[in-house]
Amino acid sequence: MHQTADEIWQRCRSALAEALAPQIYKTWFEPITAVSISERNGGPLLSLQVPSRFFYEWVERRYGATLTSVVDNVLGAKTAIAFQVGGDAHDERGEAARLEQPSLQGPHAKGASANMVTQPGLFDRVPNRTGELVATGGRSALFGRPRVTTHDAQLNSAYTFDSFIEGDCNRLARSAAQAIAEQPGKTSFNPFLVYGGVGLGKTHVAHAIGNYAVANGWQGRCLYVSSERFTSQFVHAIQENRIADFTHFYRQIDLLIVDDIQFFGRKEKTQEEFFHIFNELHQSGRQIILLADRPPREIEGIEERLLSRFQWGLTADVQPPDLETRIAILQRKAESARVVLDPEVLEFIAQRIKSNVRKLEGALVRLSAHAQLHRRSIDVEFATEILRDLVDEKPQALDIDQIMRIVANYYHTDLNLLSDKTRRREIVQARQVAMYCCKQLTGQPLKTIGLRFGGRDHSTVIHACRAVENRLDVEPGFRHELDRIQDALASRRTA
Ligand code: ADP
Ligand code: MG
Repeated sequence: MHQTADEIWQRCRSALAEALAPQIYKTWFEPITAVSISERNGGPLLSLQVPSRFFYEWVERRYGATLTSVVDNVLGAKTAIAFQVGGDAHDERGEAARLEQPSLQGPHAKGASANMVTQPGLFDRVPNRTGELVATGGRSALFGRPRVTTHDAQLNSAYTFDSFIEGDCNRLARSAAQAIAEQPGKTSFNPFLVYGGVGLGKTHVAHAIGNYAVANGWQGRCLYVSSERFTSQFVHAIQENRIADFTHFYRQIDLLIVDDIQFFGRKEKTQEEFFHIFNELHQSGRQIILLADRPPREIEGIEERLLSRFQWGLTADVQPPDLETRIAILQRKAESARVVLDPEVLEFIAQRIKSNVRKLEGALVRLSAHAQLHRRSIDVEFATEILRDLVDEKPQALDIDQIMRIVANYYHTDLNLLSDKTRRREIVQARQVAMYCCKQLTGQPLKTIGLRFGGRDHSTVIHACRAVENRLDVEPGFRHELDRIQDALASRRTA
């Protein structure tokens, strides 16, 4: 009895749907289709099609282990998985599927994904970048729209990918943004919705998409607008009886960025108008990017039909950056402001300002102004003095030992087992959680953390952090568990 690739993939999908959070399953696995099932080196080879290379890399990296184990399980044998890229539903050009070779040599190609192979011969047609861009721009001509040269996109040219520092806190948003910038409207990330707290780079990353597309020859019209501005334009249009102009204007945009959509809450008329514009743009393959300061479901007074459309594409959050990322951001900003800061001072600032990148920048601006004024170089003592009122967060009081104790206590485990060689599952998991919390909360180098856990290597700590992140994705309830541990850590800290 032979099963078709489709049947096999259907069974894998059901198992994946059970194993993963619904949003993750929907975003990353629904768009994957089966191509073929064949044999290679005596074992099965399942070929899958993904919408883009970015998509492949993300799935492989984050869900590779889950995917391989599910596929192995369904087929009852170690199965090789091949990916091919192409067949984007949004591709209006109807061009033959583009196939490219996923990189298996990259830093994430180890371990779980070792049995993912590529099919030679499938990957010999790497798309010509320039050709693609011409084709993308050509769409305007197809629709008879004039090339736009005078249109003001309202983009801040300083907000580019180059000036944006990537960290765990913003990785999904950052990499999806790149994929979109390369082909606005032609990825499955449409709409692309980014949410997260104030000053965490949402506006920056959205502008970077527009700036990148324009700088690389994309010829569509891009527009950045805040939802407040959109609303007031709409209100004026009503007052002046120019609604037709208003909608006509927005329907011409190929890449629309709407910032702070939480302001649409309870504005029924505006939402209705936006709903129609959204549909029109989306149907004709235009890119929509939405930013919000909280998950869309938590915005009060947004219509259900809008909410459900927001979920058609990709939703990504941005979190406050960790210490290393904060240092990297500061360093980059200092460089571009031509301020010289000692590593000590950088770390001093980054240790104390945690929740908001804009505030980090503020600290830097103030420091450099004072340094010029007083004609002195900036040291920690000077920084302490100047930044006294900005620095609202106390330095970390938690150290590795405290974290180990609190986590061991939470899991009712003997503290010594955390630095022991035990491979018992519950101990391994407790150890991984403790390592993860140490990395997040102490600012200690991985090497130091590893050493404290029974002389382990820094790569063990990295592995532990990945394992924890993976569990956050795949284990319902684990997020809650981790929250409670972090609460325990936080209360101990203030005690
Ligand atoms: P949000 O829209 O989330 O409130 P912004 O995009 O306005 O935040 O970012 C606030 C400031 O912080 C901007 O000047 C931006 O350049 C900077 N910023 C935020 N995140 C990063 C990052 N990851 N790398 C570099 N700069 C950043
Ligand atoms: Mg913003």
